[in-house]
Amino acid sequence: MPESEQQPRHPKAKQQKPGLVLINTGDGKGKTTAALGTALRHAGYGRKVLIIQFIKGTWHYGELESLKRLPEITLVRAGAGFYKILDDHFPEEVHKRAAAEGLALAREAVASGEYSLVVLDEIIYAIGEGLLALGDVVELLGRRKPEVSVFLTGRNAPQELVDLADTVTEMREVKHPFREGILALKGIDF
Ligand code: ATP
Ligand code: MG
Repeated sequence: MPESEQQPRHPKAKQQKPGLVLINTGDGKGKTTAALGTALRHAGYGRKVLIIQFIKGTWHYGELESLKRLPEITLVRAGAGFYKILDDHFPEEVHKRAAAEGLALAREAVASGEYSLVVLDEIIYAIGEGLLALGDVVELLGRRKPEVSVFLTGRNAPQELVDLADTVTEMREVKHPFREGILALKGIDF
């Protein structure tokens, strides 16, 4: 789209914000991948992106390799793997410490303005599991420089976060092959 066509036409256009808080929640698939899509979009303009993956720490994902090829995007894994499910063999304290480290990094990043977009993948899951305090995440959002966008993902977003956010999308499951016994597929799910 030519630049000239991108002029805001909305009557409230003067309220245009330099950065947004976005949430992808719900029980359908696509929360993480859509946030990564936004990171890709950002990188296309040479803007810096920080992605912090909570929970997923020890698992391998295809996007880890693709993102390495993009100099604009930095990915940090702040998790000790899935919590209380699958092959989890870490004590709760290890998970909590990993999540706290991720949160500390995120606080610094949103306040510094070094990154134009900060993606906090599965952070809502970490709140739901009690690894992070909701109040600490709210406090973090309060430190955001207005030009920095923050993207949070995870099921069951608490109302307080929904209220704070500018963009909230709920992914709704219509069908998922998991119900037919088809497990996670390489390149689609990880
Ligand atoms: P994706 O990473 O594919 O964008 P997501 O972030 O929306 O998915 P999560 O809740 O983070 O999904 O779950 C991660 C994993 O669980 C992914 O492998 C995803 O395919 C799978 N998954 C997502 N939704 C469902 C569902 N409704 N039933 C079973 N598995 C699901
Ligand atoms: Mg996800």
